[in-house]
Amino acid sequence: MNRVAQVFQSMTYGPAPEASDAARAWIAAHTSDSAALKLFIDNRWVASSDRQTYETHNPATGDLLARVADGGEADVDVAVRAARRAFGAWSAAAGHVRARHLYAIARAIQKHARLFAVLEALDNGKSIRETRDLDIPLVARHFYHHAGWAQLFETELAGYQPLGVVGQVIPWNFPLLMLAWKIAPAIALGNTIVIKPAPATPLTALLFAEIAADAGLPPGVINVVTGGDRAGAALTAHADIDKIAFTGSTNVGRIIRRVTAGTGKRLSLELGGKSPFVVFDDADQDAAIEGLVDAIWFNQGQVCCAGSRVLVQEDIADGFLDKVRTRMAKLRVGDSLDKGIDIGAIVDAQQRDIIDGWVKRGVAEGADLFQPNIELPTTGCWYLPTLLTNVQPASSVAQEEIFGPVAVAMTFRTPKEAVALANNTRYGLAASIWTENVNLALDIARRVKAGSVWVNCTNMFDAAAGFGGYRESGFGREGGREGLYEYIRPVWEVRPRPAVPENADVSQWAAHVPTLPKPLNGGHANGGIPALDRTAKLFIGGKQARSDGNYSRPVLNADGDIVGEVSDGNRKDIRDAVEAAHAASGWAYRSGHQRAQILYYIAENLNARADEFARRIASMTGAAADAAAREVAAAVDRWFTYAAYADKYGGTVQETTLRGIVMALVEPIGVIGIACPDAAPLLAFTSLVAPAIARGNTVVAIASETYPLSATDFYQVLETSDVPAGVVNIVTGARDHLTRTLAEHDAVDALWHFGGAVGSYYVEQLSASNMKRTWVDYGVARDWYDAHQGAGAEFLREATQVKNIWVPSGE
Ligand code: NAD
Repeated sequence: MNRVAQVFQSMTYGPAPEASDAARAWIAAHTSDSAALKLFIDNRWVASSDRQTYETHNPATGDLLARVADGGEADVDVAVRAARRAFGAWSAAAGHVRARHLYAIARAIQKHARLFAVLEALDNGKSIRETRDLDIPLVARHFYHHAGWAQLFETELAGYQPLGVVGQVIPWNFPLLMLAWKIAPAIALGNTIVIKPAPATPLTALLFAEIAADAGLPPGVINVVTGGDRAGAALTAHADIDKIAFTGSTNVGRIIRRVTAGTGKRLSLELGGKSPFVVFDDADQDAAIEGLVDAIWFNQGQVCCAGSRVLVQEDIADGFLDKVRTRMAKLRVGDSLDKGIDIGAIVDAQQRDIIDGWVKRGVAEGADLFQPNIELPTTGCWYLPTLLTNVQPASSVAQEEIFGPVAVAMTFRTPKEAVALANNTRYGLAASIWTENVNLALDIARRVKAGSVWVNCTNMFDAAAGFGGYRESGFGREGGREGLYEYIRPVWEVRPRPAVPENADVSQWAAHVPTLPKPLNGGHANGGIPALDRTAKLFIGGKQARSDGNYSRPVLNADGDIVGEVSDGNRKDIRDAVEAAHAASGWAYRSGHQRAQILYYIAENLNARADEFARRIASMTGAAADAAAREVAAAVDRWFTYAAYADKYGGTVQETTLRGIVMALVEPIGVIGIACPDAAPLLAFTSLVAPAIARGNTVVAIASETYPLSATDFYQVLETSDVPAGVVNIVTGARDHLTRTLAEHDAVDALWHFGGAVGSYYVEQLSASNMKRTWVDYGVARDWYDAHQGAGAEFLREATQVKNIWVPSGE
């Protein structure tokens, strides 16, 4: 029988290999005489200073592709210097000039798309179909889109400046795409770059840097240091870096949070995930199954936002999962350069063993295992598509990121239970929701805690929509207007470079409440007659509450006289306040109009007591009467500002390539801890608390340690302004001690600390435990009266996170 007839008879696929000659020729040209591929610094190929190299292999065959320079600390330093030299001219160039460069890069990527796609498939083991149709087109799209932001810099981003030299560290699962997500916005906005690719996948980064230089990019704007974790560590620790942008595992993200703590370096972290794929009983099941193939078997499941937790409504679960198993048996696993395969190779043997270890653990914990009977290639690194059913929500395979082609399935009965299960994770990167009921889909989309929510679709990405996590999936966004702010700062701000405390011992910081400085002498101020005890209580859950420890502390004026007493709060009080703040989470779902009404009411009630508040400020701080009155007036003005913003910052529609609608919802973060400064005690308290609650967060505020009475007087304003119980909780006492409890508390979602450089360091260190978002002052005072430093866009951004909801349209 001839071959065509045989194929018709068996109906099997034949191989459809993509040629790799050009990619291999590029490697050969850069490794002549068995030399290793060098680093790319200042638009030149540079050998690593200690001549160390390592090998990169093709995971689909195990073949050696190339030896590559293994950069270290000295190389990182050379690259950072090059980037610093380039920064002046690059940041000063007109937006149009930078736009022309990004545009040229985008064109060059399209011109060399085939070479990039093949080289990426070879180095990573992912299928050429995916690199050709997804990775590389999205890379080009990112540069086009950000060429536009460079062009519009002066008009759309007036009042901002670039950060400086940015260190970027990326993983191996989408090597070139992660590079593009990082580099395009950074250079568009005038920063210069040192990037370290993942050790397993260095090749396309080097090709990219070479092509960008050929396209005319000035030396030093992009520098590539290949190497392992030591190069990454050297980059994150380098003193002359202004920002670190990291994509990778949550564990390494945590290390980087600690390494950069207190240094004043900006940080964005795109970390792991365990994203839910939720199927309701009215879903188009065939579409959902194809969606699931894309959600968890795309890129071998080595996808941070993989739909790895399949949540199926109970009444269709058995039938749906049977269909999934049938579909799994049709998946084709094979060489990345074969255009007919669905699943490529796992990046390396170590990763494969990790995946297998998780699957074995899941089975040991009681899960049922399904792997289809698919033939695997004999050489290379493979893992069968895997489905685990009968999985308990608390089991390790339902909680931990496996980062391989492994789906775990669970069932739910009601939408409420679906949301509870979807959110039963420390991560919050993405979610996919399948139902034909648009009302249900959008309701669930709002309630799921994740940065990207895909309705009846999955794994949708575009340069015009931000991507990034809630909770332990990290903070910061890549793409969209929201992603731009990761690479710019207001023009009034310079990068703080605080001295990190020497021999800092996190376990010892503020562990004890300081002893009281003075005995109480309330009687003296009253002609010998003891005054009535007016010790201010705490304000927790809408009530004035006695502190757990039952201690109090005096408030002294500028002359050292006692002008009042406040409760000395402790750990327990903070914990109670956090609980109350959580119980008030319904505040986030009030309409902006309702929140605005309450904030206006606060302003009104504060205004009615303006004289009393001014007298208090004057007596505590020693401010002149007119200065104190000015502070109160500014605080009233500020409550008005955020009442205004309560219904004017909710989001926008993103102009992506999707045929449909992508909504960027600007959501609250959750519970925000706020440690207030001593300067301008009423105005600073207002400037921090007002934006947080205007945008739907609930707050645990630590009043100014030195001048707390403006905050305690404020209880009565809150009580008379219809603020729901628990939305604002106020604790007085030793700021650092109370801050420490907030930083260590896993139910606090963000922590703002305006209490000096040392506190900033410890807050950033301790907040790494649950990757809470931090906003600290590094010891740099701000002018709370200034309209930019004391209010506005920066405050609103810190109080919110962007969720993009993707809704395709059409039949
Ligand atoms: P990884 O965290 O092990 O490594 C990522 C990068 O960090 C590599 O370049 C590595 O060399 C470097 N690195 C390792 N230790 C370092 C240190 N101490 N200091 C500085 N750099 C260091 O992650 P990986 O295994 O390469 O990638 C998989 C992880 O990436 C998964 O957890 C996945 O979810 C995550 N990821 C997240 C996103 C996202 O956008 N959120 C995208 C892709 C991948």
